[in-house]
Amino acid sequence: ALIRSIEGKAGRPRMKPPFIKVSGVFARPTCLNNVETLSLVPHLLLDDAGVYASCGSGESIGTKLISVAGNVNRPGVFEIPFGMTVREILYDLAGGIQHDRKIQLIQFGGASGKIADASILDTPYTYEDLRAAGVMVGSGGMLVIDERTSVLDFLRMNQEFFWEESCGQCTPCREGNLHIKIILDKMAAGTATREDIAIMIKIARVMSMSSLCGLGETAQNTLMSAMKVFPDLFDIGGARA
Ligand code: SF4
Repeated sequence: ALIRSIEGKAGRPRMKPPFIKVSGVFARPTCLNNVETLSLVPHLLLDDAGVYASCGSGESIGTKLISVAGNVNRPGVFEIPFGMTVREILYDLAGGIQHDRKIQLIQFGGASGKIADASILDTPYTYEDLRAAGVMVGSGGMLVIDERTSVLDFLRMNQEFFWEESCGQCTPCREGNLHIKIILDKMAAGTATREDIAIMIKIARVMSMSSLCGLGETAQNTLMSAMKVFPDLFDIGGARA
């Protein structure tokens, strides 16, 4: 989508192959990386003393830019060495939760990231530890939601975002986001049935397998992780995920 925008076309993803390393901007071979990745290159080339490599642990070497947002006292972007715990990030760097409220959930890795409850606080922030805890580093985002917001309202808001952001080019994403949103709204209204939950799970799986780009493939990550972390929410007529 970014390459098509650069070329002056509508910013919509296209089928692959050809992959952009073969045919990207104006059909030329293209290397596409985010600014964070490129900013590390000089440090790696000039780091004869291995200072950068001495940060971090296990598979997760070096530092990471993370963005902490939501109900924390000091939201912002922080560069951390891999291996800090989630608690250290939220309480030492981001100043703790506003008014010392309880954490309802934390979404990791951006809008399509998976969520966890407060039991994740003592997990080290590394690729492997977050993966083992059921979430992911993703874009480096951490969105903290406190006890005032219900999990269901958060999921509805998140799904509405993807419904609006879908470019509408392929059916699984265009229709799937809409229908998941409709079922979440029914849950909020207390009218969802066991069949609705089963259909929602099926839609989410079809979207992840058959959408054209990453948006549709991952738009249901948050919902599917919520089913694992908060199973009682989806236990309508015995329809647990
Ligand atoms: S998955 Fe969604 S955003 Fe991506 S091409 Fe299909 S409709 Fe567009």
